[in-house]
Amino acid sequence: MFKYLLPEGVFRSVYEIDLNMLRELGLLGIIADLDNTLVSARTTAATPELARWVEGVRERGFRVVIVSNNRRARVSAIAEPLGVPYISSARKPLAGAFRQALRLLELPPERVAVIGDQLVTDVLGARRTGLTPFLVSPIAPGEEGLATQMNRLIERIARSRLRRKGLWPDGEGSWRG
Ligand SMILES: [Mg+2]
Repeated sequence: MFKYLLPEGVFRSVYEIDLNMLRELGLLGIIADLDNTLVSARTTAATPELARWVEGVRERGFRVVIVSNNRRARVSAIAEPLGVPYISSARKPLAGAFRQALRLLELPPERVAVIGDQLVTDVLGARRTGLTPFLVSPIAPGEEGLATQMNRLIERIARSRLRRKGLWPDGEGSWRG
């Protein structure tokens, strides 16, 4: 069970994920979480830094889709100005939205990375669907709702288990939790 919560890599933010590394792993598509991964929960528009990242990722030939459990109005306000396709109300970690995202990307699961800030939604959903998950530190963990706080509790338990087994990818030493 805990192995399904194991990210392939851990990073401080999306901006620190080396695109060459994704390429070397054979990954051509990115499924990105929205809240606390690309923007903080209270940010209502894409930041210039995020817009530049999306542009750079695409210039390098990656396909991107945003998959969020948040509502359509919230997700579209960020994704549409960026010109990034999105799936809202995704019900991660269920596989449905991830499969739908693969159809949008027109890529098989082994070619697609998932970038997110939660083990219980992003990483678990990715592993169950055969995708490669990368974990980033939440942008503003203080702004999280009750459900997410519960998830964080499960994360702490899973993370310490995986660490004890020497499985946690601690290389960057970047985890703030
Ligand atoms: Mg998130």
